[in-house]
Amino acid sequence: MDKILNYINGEFIESLDKSWINNVDPSIGKVYSLIPDSEDKDIEQAVQSAELAFDNWSNSTIDYRSKILNNIAKLILTNMEDLARAESIDNGKPLRLAKKIDIPRAAKNMAFFASAIKHDSSESHQMNNIAINYTLRKPIGVVGCISPWNLPLYLFTWKIAPALAAGNTVIAKPSEVTPMTAYLFSKICKEAGLPDGVLNIVHGYGGKVGAAITKHPKIKAISFTGGTATGKEIAKVAAPLFKKMSLELGGKNPNIVFADCDFEKAVSTSVLSSFSNQGQICLCGSRIYIERKIYDKFKEAFLKKVKKLVVQDPLSESTQIGALVSEDHMNKVLQHIKVAKEEGGVILHGGERILLSGRCENGFFVSPTVIEGLPHNCRTNQEEIFGPVVTLSPFDKEDEVIEYANGTQYGLSSTVWTKDLAKANKMAQELKAGIVWINCWLVRDLRTPFGGVKNSGVGREGGYYALQFFTEPTNVCISLN
Ligand code: NDP
Repeated sequence: MDKILNYINGEFIESLDKSWINNVDPSIGKVYSLIPDSEDKDIEQAVQSAELAFDNWSNSTIDYRSKILNNIAKLILTNMEDLARAESIDNGKPLRLAKKIDIPRAAKNMAFFASAIKHDSSESHQMNNIAINYTLRKPIGVVGCISPWNLPLYLFTWKIAPALAAGNTVIAKPSEVTPMTAYLFSKICKEAGLPDGVLNIVHGYGGKVGAAITKHPKIKAISFTGGTATGKEIAKVAAPLFKKMSLELGGKNPNIVFADCDFEKAVSTSVLSSFSNQGQICLCGSRIYIERKIYDKFKEAFLKKVKKLVVQDPLSESTQIGALVSEDHMNKVLQHIKVAKEEGGVILHGGERILLSGRCENGFFVSPTVIEGLPHNCRTNQEEIFGPVVTLSPFDKEDEVIEYANGTQYGLSSTVWTKDLAKANKMAQELKAGIVWINCWLVRDLRTPFGGVKNSGVGREGGYYALQFFTEPTNVCISLN
């Protein structure tokens, strides 16, 4: 059985207790590798190594750090096939999605911040003849990065890249559900010449390793992506320690389709925004609101496409929907579907587990599920399901749909389909969300602010915003007299 190892001080090691957690391939429902079951003392070791490495790394030139990050980006691309296959096996996502989105984006994250750090600048404020201020931006020190299972390497590198680029040393924890590409990444970092101790990757359960990172007094900032409940736990522990925090949390995103939209584009993109990665993207639009005039037409066209989605072995090139990430998660999604039925929802398609034959006969597959007939304030339309489940609801007026869209605890992203520019701008103004996509979905420019409002999070990631998060400003005031 393959063993994943921690990466601490440049070495690949077991947890100090030498205990292991099973790692399951969700498409076949079987254990295929082992993960170190690390805890506080492994984090302590990682923090010591990161502290030792900090001076050299933070004082190294921007060119040097940029070169190392670019080396890592190149090696990710060189290892594209292996990484994509590993991501697909570990997570259940279609191999072709891992090749098209996850792994290229991981490389892009590294290359982007390798370049961003070279183009960054800090502010200066002049006070006529009195004084001049300039802002020094210094790396924070040892920082913690905790990421989820849905886009494993993509989100792991999205945090690590700016933290390293800004000169910090890092303790990172991938989800224990999908640790494999983080392990392969640690080998890539070694090969790329990243100095020992600059990045330390510690595997294990969130409640142990994640909690140990959060409470460690020498870890000065936490960048976390995951569920809202976990985010609350982290904030409770980290806030009294006055740690900097960036919390990227859950969503229940509305997808609003007006009658004057580009119909074909709205339908095809809505299929993607509903079911890509089995609906396990925080930005998926799980509540589709359709202007009543085109409700039936949209429903028919949408269902026609959904019925054609190919659910099968993630490793097959023609697969569009793979396995959910774990048996627990599959059961959670099926439970939500049960609740939707109890609430009076009509299942238009799907609604059940799919049992495949052959290699994947024990895999955790759920049919893409479309539900209608539910009020906007029911549990199904309020709670994040994070699976291949969407609801369809009609609306008549702009103000009505704004109220529905904003009427959850979340505020991560929204999508609006209309050709009317004034209406689009009004919606962007009124929607309470960190991102509003107009006539598109998941179009990402890495320079833009990324994050949520309300219970979808605190803080922003992305270009300048991430570099700001991972540095502390010091204002220097020089008298001119
Ligand atoms: P979790 O919150 O369960 O886990 C996220 C990470 O936190 C994992 O590495 C987990 O470890 C770790 N963790 C768990 N408990 C603790 C703890 N007490 N202290 C510190 N760390 C802990 O989220 P999921 O992995 O289930 O991911 C799905 C969620 O992530 C969804 O809600 C989704 O919306 C959200 N998400 C948000 C995004 C955004 O940008 N806003 C993007 C992607 C996902 P382990 O897995 O080992 O338990």
